[in-house]
Amino acid sequence: MPIQTINPATGKIEKTYVEFSKEEIKKSIHDTYESYLKWKGTDIKERSRLMKNAASVLRSKRNEYAFIITTEMGKPIKQSIAEVEKCAWVCEYFAENTERMLAKEIIETDASESYVEFSPLGVILAVMPWNFPFWQVFRFAAPSLMAGNAGLLKHASNVPMCALAIEQIFLNAGFPKNVFKTLLIGSEPVKDVIKEPIIKAATLTGSEPAGRKIAEVCGKELKKTVLELGGSDPFIVLDDADIKETAKMAVVARLINNGQSCIASKRFIVVEKIYDEFSDKFVKAMNDVKIGDPMDESVELGPIAREDLLYELDSLVKDSAAKGARILTGGKILAGKGFYYAPTILDNLKKGMPAFDDELFGPVASLIKVKDEEEAVRIANDSPFGLGASIWTSNIEKAKQMATEIESGSVFINGIVKSDPRLPFGGIKNSGYGRELSHYGIKEFVNIKSVWVK
Ligand code: NAP
Repeated sequence: MPIQTINPATGKIEKTYVEFSKEEIKKSIHDTYESYLKWKGTDIKERSRLMKNAASVLRSKRNEYAFIITTEMGKPIKQSIAEVEKCAWVCEYFAENTERMLAKEIIETDASESYVEFSPLGVILAVMPWNFPFWQVFRFAAPSLMAGNAGLLKHASNVPMCALAIEQIFLNAGFPKNVFKTLLIGSEPVKDVIKEPIIKAATLTGSEPAGRKIAEVCGKELKKTVLELGGSDPFIVLDDADIKETAKMAVVARLINNGQSCIASKRFIVVEKIYDEFSDKFVKAMNDVKIGDPMDESVELGPIAREDLLYELDSLVKDSAAKGARILTGGKILAGKGFYYAPTILDNLKKGMPAFDDELFGPVASLIKVKDEEEAVRIANDSPFGLGASIWTSNIEKAKQMATEIESGSVFINGIVKSDPRLPFGGIKNSGYGRELSHYGIKEFVNIKSVWVK
């Protein structure tokens, strides 16, 4: 795939970039390592000061960065602005909390003194997706750099402007050169980058196949990985939920980020008593969504990020329909320029259909009828993924019991699944392993070292 900015709202190629040569890749890795050697000894208070500067840089040019995000991947501009704000928050959060999170931990043993300390690992490679082109990078970079590591970014090939802007943000914030560096490369050279002895660990946020590839290479090289992969999050509606409000939230949960979020709800599992009422309201709310130019602040749904992904999504919907799924609304590519897909709801779904088994990355909801809560949990868990889940009910105690039964990295009750710097984020099963954010996330890329003194 060429490294290119193509505006998905128009289909126009805005800019094509030259990929780094083998020599440039090697030099970048080496330069990052040189910077790491100084950075790891930099006082934590100085690191915090610089990370707070990064937050200020983000806020001071918020609209400019949001414009780049929307130009490259098409999310509604209001959501891009919110993404930049959230990046500033994660920088501030780790600037303020890393000293506490990584403080020496004294543990009583038979030694005269014993403790655990947390030291950086070195240069970490981050392979990142286009869907939250700022947020995914900052949620890796803020804790990793605060812990004293250096970061190399291989961003998705369709968001090079974002990748370069992020490198510049750290420079503008006063970080030493090459503590955070962007490699303009496609996916092919990634395995060779991982094999470089300087690279000590890798994290990938992206699809399951890409995750397997990275895990395979890192496994061979014995390098630590964190993988944040796909999801097919259940959105469970019980019969005591506020149906009108829940149907509205179902649309938000499915269409956020133009339906291209790992934690967007994808399977709407509704108990039979209220199924028809919920379904009618859900279809109506979906049809009311304003679709159009994502730069327009009133638009709620923009285009799919790439043309190939638009056709892939359509073929998965068509395949599901050919196998018996019913299209309640949408189910087609929208005519005109840009890569737009109609907001879609499917029902009458069964195992063996893509809309039941796979992650459909776009504004397509799978509606599934169940008898009761027990069946809802069984269907929720009947997925190769385990990223997030939400439960909608007025019976909180019952929902908490269900949350315990659900196989996923997070469960939200009466709220849509979202990430928060204070809470660990990640999945189980084919959604990956390891955690980002919170004190759990920052400890993924440190050496947890025991020191024992007689
Ligand atoms: P993707 O195709 O897997 O790409 C993600 C990154 O991996 C890109 O930088 C891509 O580079 C690279 N890549 C792809 N194949 C590779 C390979 N064989 N070797 C090395 N690198 C490779 O995913 P995407 O389409 O950008 O993003 C959508 C997916 O990400 C969805 O499945 C979504 O659920 C998942 N996601 C998960 C989370 C989470 O936190 N769990 C968050 C966001 C998204 P190129 O662009 O150059 O191919």
